[in-house]
Amino acid sequence: MTLPVIAVVGATGVVGLEMLDVLEKRSFPLAELRLLASPRSAGKKVRFRDEEVAVEPLANDSFRGVDIAMFAAGSDVSKEHASKAVEAGAVVVDNSSAFRMSPGVPLVVPEWNASALDGHAGIIANPNCSTIILIMALAPLAQVAGLRRVVVSTYQAASGAGRAAMEEMRESTRCFLEGRSHEPQALPGSLAFNLFPHVDVFCEDAYTREEDKMLHETRKILGSPELLVEATCVRVAVERCHSEAVTVELDRSLSPEEARAIFARAPGLIVRDEPGDYPVPAAMSGQDDVAVGRVRESRVFDGGLAFWLVGDQLRKGAALNAVQIAELLLAKIDST
Ligand code: NAP
Repeated sequence: MTLPVIAVVGATGVVGLEMLDVLEKRSFPLAELRLLASPRSAGKKVRFRDEEVAVEPLANDSFRGVDIAMFAAGSDVSKEHASKAVEAGAVVVDNSSAFRMSPGVPLVVPEWNASALDGHAGIIANPNCSTIILIMALAPLAQVAGLRRVVVSTYQAASGAGRAAMEEMRESTRCFLEGRSHEPQALPGSLAFNLFPHVDVFCEDAYTREEDKMLHETRKILGSPELLVEATCVRVAVERCHSEAVTVELDRSLSPEEARAIFARAPGLIVRDEPGDYPVPAAMSGQDDVAVGRVRESRVFDGGLAFWLVGDQLRKGAALNAVQIAELLLAKIDST
């Protein structure tokens, strides 16, 4: 097999750096790694497999000779450069929301809809981080018992809004503790000992775009265009890992014991569900698996369930899922 040339666009960001760690830990086979970012990062060096790799500024000819281009630099960069990468012969795995809902662009969580990759036209979208974490528990339930309605509240980490937001949370906390004032820029206000029911921008119907993503992307991934998903997305003072409180109505009733058994068999999902032993962000940081706990009968939906999810949104919610997609692409190239 000829080893592929991989480009990471946004290599200096929190998702880009996590992607390098995942590529290294999973011993992803590659001939060359090309690191791309904005002109601000030109000349920076990033460590990968005991080597210092220089970061190059993203340019129109950056994708010559690239087989797989992993984009993690925001929607505007993806909209401007993904088609250039495809024209140069690369397959794009895009972490932004630019193409997720475009017809013909697969939106993939490899454990559950890998077959959506078949017939892609050069761009594959990585779903929204909160959506991926939710899918890891919804998909096994949908398969066994059918899903009718989902109500979910998220508790999303500062790093979900990028490196600047993560650094801003630390700085605002220092300022708070020292009695100094702080001017927020990356977040809607000071996140020190605080939270905001506000992730991404507000839409005309008073929901936020993040809440819309959780509805529409979940429908697309599960192939359930009628599924109802009511999300309330909240940014909390946590560095990494998104948590989600979920209530589901099912076509067929499941007891909490049955649900735990289904979750325990699901790939990439672990069950931590004893009184006083449940998943928390500090324990799940840096982990590949998503964890589920607090599984109980819903008091609202007859035969439904309530449960609690925690997943590292930089890992399974972004970098790991993207690298898993790249691994599937390589396997396809190998088998042709
Ligand atoms: P981030 O920490 O702010 O990093 C942004 C990256 O994009 C940096 O490497 C930055 O380079 C690069 N960049 C910015 N403008 C650029 C330009 N004009 N040309 C080339 N590179 C440019 O953001 P992030 O959180 O990693 O997010 C990256 C993408 O992943 C976004 O689309 C985001 O929605 C998505 N995503 C993020 C998460 C998460 O948990 N953070 C989860 C899922 C998906 P410089 O360092 O040179 O500025």
